[in-house]
Amino acid sequence: MTARIDFEKNSEKALGDPSLQATLRSAMVRFRGLRNSAVEEIPNWQALRQYAHDVKAHALAHLDRYLEQLERQVTEAGGVVHWARNADEARSLITQLVKSSGRQVVKSKSMTTEEIELNKALEHAGCEVTETDLGEYLVQLAGEQPAHIIAPVVHKSKETIAALLSEKLGVPRYDDAQQLTMVAREVLRRRFLEADVGISGVNFAVAESGTVVVVENEGNARLTTTLPRTHIAVMGIEKVIPRLADLDVFLTLLPRSATGQRMSSYVSFLTGPRRVGEADGPEQLHLVLLDNGRTAIHADSSMRESLACIRCGACLNVCPVFERTAGHAYGSVYSGPIGAVLTPLFQGLDVAGDLPFASSLCGACGEVCPVKIELPRLLLELRSRVVRQQGAPVAERFFVWGWVNAMKSARRLAVAGKVARAVHRFTSAVRLPLPYPFSRWSAFRELPRPAAKAFRERTS
Ligand code: SF4
Repeated sequence: MTARIDFEKNSEKALGDPSLQATLRSAMVRFRGLRNSAVEEIPNWQALRQYAHDVKAHALAHLDRYLEQLERQVTEAGGVVHWARNADEARSLITQLVKSSGRQVVKSKSMTTEEIELNKALEHAGCEVTETDLGEYLVQLAGEQPAHIIAPVVHKSKETIAALLSEKLGVPRYDDAQQLTMVAREVLRRRFLEADVGISGVNFAVAESGTVVVVENEGNARLTTTLPRTHIAVMGIEKVIPRLADLDVFLTLLPRSATGQRMSSYVSFLTGPRRVGEADGPEQLHLVLLDNGRTAIHADSSMRESLACIRCGACLNVCPVFERTAGHAYGSVYSGPIGAVLTPLFQGLDVAGDLPFASSLCGACGEVCPVKIELPRLLLELRSRVVRQQGAPVAERFFVWGWVNAMKSARRLAVAGKVARAVHRFTSAVRLPLPYPFSRWSAFRELPRPAAKAFRERTS
């Protein structure tokens, strides 16, 4: 049985680490600034968001049709399509495919393979797996999970990375980012040349042409998908889009929302394996279509739109909760506002019921989402499901009961106001913390001193 995710407990480590707080804050401020400048350059940004939203909604409404079309087109192009109902099936299928080609595996960044914990399964089967995205390589060396959808080591400072590389690879502690990158590059280049199999994720899969599209900045995904003899691409079934023509909009929205780039450095369009006469590319291309709970989300009409996510990470970068806790507090590879929606849907409210409450509901996530997912609405819907299933905490019920009763009559409201002000004056005068559960709030903040007269007294 999966253990319950205790968001509050998980957050304590990050909240108590001033260096992590500084690293996170500066990264999030930088990401937000870059994204805002990139978005301002596009006058019809809102229209593009709406278009992308509509394409995704249409693709999801006809998911069965587009997935079957994708399968036909990939097969026609010489690839092999596999369907995996859950993580177990996907792991054993991919392990078999890898073992039939060799043992050396290079991987490019893929949240879907993180979701099914593929590396563990492959290593258990005797394969040597190397993550080749620099950030993913570093978290692999550290034995951690990525802390952000697009920036896996957002929680690590340059000094921490230098110490990690030095400890794991026996190199000096370089303080220059370029030297640190060269250390990783040296190892990774060798791994690419030795690899039997390359495993990648999929950003978009085009039904009409059977094309798998991989977007990245380091060139490692291109090497992963072209150098080894076998390429295995792993995608959630929601990644399918109908037409090549739709990509134009997604390839405008994704890099600007994710990293504030006008376009990503590498966009690979992979249609089938290498053909006769072609100079490069894999001999075999396998496309694994993963369900793992997505069909159930698809059937849930209030939650279906969460499947439109293109994993840009913009909602994480604007979330005030994520900025303080980082990704590991969410107890899942999907973090931030979209993680607080997807993880409870994938793992159940009994495991991840805390996560929809890990939000201030400020609405910033919904405003930046390039595919217009209504994240605040989804979070509220999940909150109400948690309360229906598990009940509200006693203190909250008591507070709401008191509030409802005070609001029922003007006289009661006046008395309640007087009592609250008297208590407040007393606690501020003797500097007492507020009683539980308000003490958790006042531990970090000071209540302003109450006015001599209440607003109602001054205006009556
Ligand atoms: S929910 Fe929207 S903003 Fe968040 S990662 Fe997905 S596409 Fe990006």
